[in-house]
Amino acid sequence: MPDTLGGALRMNAGAYGAEIRDVFGAARAVDRGGRLFEVAAADLGFGYRSCAAPDDWLFVGATLRGVPGDRAAIAARMKSIRRARGDTQPTGARTGGSTFANPNGARAWELIDRAGCRGLRRGGAMVSGKHCNFLINTGDATAADLEGLGEEVRRRVKAATGVDLRWEIRRVGVAADPTPREVSR
Ligand SMILES: Cc1cc2nc3c(=O)[nH]c(=O)nc-3n(C[C@H](O)[C@H](O)[C@H](O)COP(=O)(O)OP(=O)(O)OC[C@H]3O[C@@H](n4cnc5c(N)ncnc54)[C@H](O)[C@@H]3O)c2cc1C
Repeated sequence: MPDTLGGALRMNAGAYGAEIRDVFGAARAVDRGGRLFEVAAADLGFGYRSCAAPDDWLFVGATLRGVPGDRAAIAARMKSIRRARGDTQPTGARTGGSTFANPNGARAWELIDRAGCRGLRRGGAMVSGKHCNFLINTGDATAADLEGLGEEVRRRVKAATGVDLRWEIRRVGVAADPTPREVSR
């Protein structure tokens, strides 16, 4: 089935009670030296939104285990998940998806809400009012706006709840505009 799957393997993507490791069979990866590796789940050390594959591995193929089921029932479940996602997440907005990983025994969005960050803004970046673990680019957000807003959320959550949120989004590069911008409602 041609598609892109690399990121989903790298982060053990998951939602609605299932994740990649539940259906994972095997994968092939190439390292920077061009060496090819065939790996099973035990070799990948899947964890919550993580895997222990070396940083320089590129996944080039994977086998997933399907579970036979009734076509209509599968279609109905897909439809209901799509609807639930649309009802609870800003699916039409410019966003990188879930910003922070859920800490042990807690939900990131609830902590962010409790810390009063719903709707918080920094430049063109905003904490979604619909699902506050999503940062939205409202139009002209810079990477520095988004990263600075995320760090402000982390600071406020720590102060309000004592919990250190971990970025689920992987940040790369250096911010082009280091000028701090005001945080506001
Ligand atoms: C709106 C939105 C909603 C989302 N909802 C969810 C959700 O509910 N659950 C969830 O788990 N995730 C969610 N995500 C995140 C999503 O799972 C990942 O963005 C997706 O798995 C990335 O897949 P990709 O192949 O496009 O990887 P990319 O976005 O291209 O890359 C993601 C990471 O994987 C690495 N990578 C990519 N390809 C390979 C490869 N071939 N080999 C090795 N490393 C590679 C990249 O270097 C990068 O670090 C959401 C994202 C968005 C934008």
